[in-house]
Amino acid sequence: MDYSVARRRMVEQQIVARGIDDSRVIQALLDVPRHLFVEPGLQSHAYSDGSLPIGEKQTISQPYIVAVMTAALGLSGSERVLEVGTGSGYQTAVLAKLVKRVYSIERIPSLAAKARRILDQLRLYNINIKIADGTIGWQDQAPFDAILVAAGSPEIPQKYLDQLEINGKLIMPVGNRETQELVLVIKREDGRFVQQTLMGCRFVPLIGENGWQSDPV
Ligand code: SAM
Repeated sequence: MDYSVARRRMVEQQIVARGIDDSRVIQALLDVPRHLFVEPGLQSHAYSDGSLPIGEKQTISQPYIVAVMTAALGLSGSERVLEVGTGSGYQTAVLAKLVKRVYSIERIPSLAAKARRILDQLRLYNINIKIADGTIGWQDQAPFDAILVAAGSPEIPQKYLDQLEINGKLIMPVGNRETQELVLVIKREDGRFVQQTLMGCRFVPLIGENGWQSDPV
């Protein structure tokens, strides 16, 4: 299978055709080999229009959702970004192509280790990965120009708002365990927050002190 052809088709049909027009985001999606981030048996589906299992009951996000969330942050290249929910590392790689530094938190050690390996293989060295409860953010490295949370929570943890830079943007799924809405929050210069709902979505739960309290049964 020619993965670069599949990737180009994915970008044209799933991303550009649905209205994503940020050329840097489009280029990053063309550049990141998504098939490396999925399990070997699923590589032929890596460029299909959906999420895929990555083990540990977790998923790699749908390419379109990765594009929507990344584009919503309006990244220019100088940002320091907090990502919560490294998962496979695919979204991390896309962010790393677009910003100065990515600080990514994953609660499941085996996923963090696998992601680190692939990101190193791709020579993406502007990434710090930490195994921890990402619902408390990353205080030592705050404030962040942008925060992207790739797991759904009943509400926005206050820590994220506190750790956001002035004019910074936060994007995350907010809702119940099954369905959520993608919420974009901007921290204004007066310290107040403007909130906008972008679309419906389905993410795995954000589990931790300021999210859901336990794994789904
Ligand atoms: N964007 C990722 C990708 O491209 O592969 C997919 C992320 S997956 C949908 C959500 C991830 O969030 C899972 O790997 C899960 O273990 C992680 N997660 C859930 N709660 C977390 C928490 N409190 N802190 C850090 N990671 C968490």
